[in-house]
Amino acid sequence: MTLTLETLFRAIDDKRDELVSLTQELVRIPTINPPGECYQDCARYIGERLEKRGFTIDYVRATGAIGDSDRYPRMNVIARWEGAASGPTVHFNSHIDVVEVGAGWSFDPFAAEVHEGRIYGRGTCDMKGGLAASIIALETLIEQCPSLAGSLEISGTADEESGGFGGVAYLAERGYFSKPRVDHVIIPEPLNKHRICLGHRGVWWAELVTSGRMAHGSMPFLGDCAVRHMGAVIDAFENKLFPQLRQKHTAMPVVPDGAKESTLNINSLHGGQSEEFAGLPAPLVPDSCRMVIDRRFLIEEDLSEVKAEVAKILEDLKSERPNFRYELRDLFEVAPSMTAQDAPVVRAVEQGIKQVLQRNPEFVVSPGTYDQKHIDRIGRLHDCIAYGPGILDLAHQSDEYVVIDDMLDAAKVMASASYNLLGGIQA
Ligand SMILES: [Zn+2]
Repeated sequence: MTLTLETLFRAIDDKRDELVSLTQELVRIPTINPPGECYQDCARYIGERLEKRGFTIDYVRATGAIGDSDRYPRMNVIARWEGAASGPTVHFNSHIDVVEVGAGWSFDPFAAEVHEGRIYGRGTCDMKGGLAASIIALETLIEQCPSLAGSLEISGTADEESGGFGGVAYLAERGYFSKPRVDHVIIPEPLNKHRICLGHRGVWWAELVTSGRMAHGSMPFLGDCAVRHMGAVIDAFENKLFPQLRQKHTAMPVVPDGAKESTLNINSLHGGQSEEFAGLPAPLVPDSCRMVIDRRFLIEEDLSEVKAEVAKILEDLKSERPNFRYELRDLFEVAPSMTAQDAPVVRAVEQGIKQVLQRNPEFVVSPGTYDQKHIDRIGRLHDCIAYGPGILDLAHQSDEYVVIDDMLDAAKVMASASYNLLGGIQA
């Protein structure tokens, strides 16, 4: 018996209420990162549900990873369903952590209330709605097609919002995201149901410290102000670096448009008296000023050139400005990643989008990185994309929501793509 798409899609539509309640239950577990609240509860919730549906469950704590402690264990769950015969494996990976709540909410961020076809709450869009859609997609596919050949996996992983070291990176180092265990990976991040995200730009984070000499604040001429040196750096960034970055355009289909150029964010800046004592007079000339920069680069750029651009600005200042001293330290870097448009997972999701939405997909690249970097670099698995419901712009905002119809459509695309990737072969 072959499965018809009509039967599969109708079975998913019939689970609308179940999809809503599953999303609500996931959102009501406040997995805020930092510090990494309730990971264990969320991982267990997913594992216990899937165990009842025939999946084998692995719980993997990223012991010793950044942020891991007995109070905040970095807990991950990987669920695997083995089909009736051997075949390829399709894996859906979702991060279970959400960012802090922030101000400006008109709904309780962890109540997951439904209003006018939307579920509101922190993590609805990024990305518990996508996780729930993938769970419903695979559960329905298995019910409709119990004799399918191949395997299906769903993981709920920690710490994506803080780099994924206690999540996908940790698992990738242990073979969870490599062949022969896994062949195709879909990450249901909120990129919109008609978009296939092929990858992301690169990242370089660095810390820059300028140094000066302390003196009494009433006689600044006796010292050397590190903050003024940093001011010269910012000036040079404004006049030289930012115009230079705006000239660099990528052929990668990055969204939104502004991110088709190279960008640099000044993440933080501090010099002189500490915040802690801000109200108390302590008249000193600051001898140190620290800046953290977050540079996003394009697939056409080389990381060594990216670093050299900043170094050149600093070296020029050193020759122009008396007593200018600095230190530049790398904090973190990720290479850009882009899956080929004719890769099997891309083709399968493209076909699913055509079937469900009666339109061609839009191919995009994310301005920021996500866990694909670890699957690509550590797992060496290149058949990986992000595809999921939810509007990217709502991620991390107040009154974040996910549209229920979008989750249903995305679940259909996921189910259809998985069926195709397994070859639609039944034992
Ligand atoms: Zn996310």
